[in-house]
Amino acid sequence: MKIDLTGKVALITGGSRGIGFSIAQALAGAGATVAVLGRDGAKAGEAAQALGDGRARGYACDVTQAAQVERAVAAVEEAFDRIDVLVNNAGTTRDNLLFRISEDDWNTVLDTNLKGAFLTTKHAARGMIKRRWGRIINITSVVGISGNKGQANYTASKAGLIGFTKSVSKELASRNVLVNAVAPGFIDTELTRAITPEARDTLIKAIPLGRLGQGQDVAAAVLFLASDFASYITGQLLVVDGGMVL
Ligand code: NDP
Repeated sequence: MKIDLTGKVALITGGSRGIGFSIAQALAGAGATVAVLGRDGAKAGEAAQALGDGRARGYACDVTQAAQVERAVAAVEEAFDRIDVLVNNAGTTRDNLLFRISEDDWNTVLDTNLKGAFLTTKHAARGMIKRRWGRIINITSVVGISGNKGQANYTASKAGLIGFTKSVSKELASRNVLVNAVAPGFIDTELTRAITPEARDTLIKAIPLGRLGQGQDVAAAVLFLASDFASYITGQLLVVDGGMVL
């Protein structure tokens, strides 16, 4: 049994680096044509080129901006005729304790992680519904389940994304558009490299599998959910955390 996405078109928000780039590599490796979105269009373009299949393209798009999302989805559909797989991966943090979270920090995190997924889903799902085939995969986080000190804004956005996944999965199921979420644990990317070596060691000790996750670990779960092997799975949350939040 081999996953084959030949003929499918996948759009990945925040695909220019980190987990999103690993997802882009995995989907392109399975034969999908990939569109990479990021605020920095040049970096998205470089990431698309680095996939090395000659078809992938990068697009400048800030997912917090409704008009930009509408334009980017239309441009991808214009270039490739369709979007079959949407991966809502773009995300950001502005960590602080409750009383130190500014309104700007709250809005930036909620707008990027939650509103962004709403906007891309709304626009990309229309074509999926018409074609009676679609996969939407939302990248949330284990802290959206467990909560985390110093991340009230981030955890609220990621818990919201889980609720969003469940509701939209119910709305779109009759059109064979499946909507699932993947919750990574602690993955080694730019987002997490800022923490001190001591905090990193403490975190690794709390992971039963004894190591940080890699982008490829998350990408493998996304690849499965995008494939025909997952055609009877919708509204689910797949945790990829080395056993951290048991
Ligand atoms: P990175 O910071 O490495 O990458 C984030 C990506 O999102 C970049 O490509 C960035 O590109 C893009 N991005 C950020 N803001 C926007 C925006 N407003 N519009 C469009 N694109 C945007 O993050 P990770 O790879 O670590 O994280 C990816 C996802 O996984 C996030 O949703 C994160 O919350 C989640 N996650 C990560 C974990 C980890 O341990 N790393 C754990 C659990 C969940 P650009 O700057 O060019 O816009």
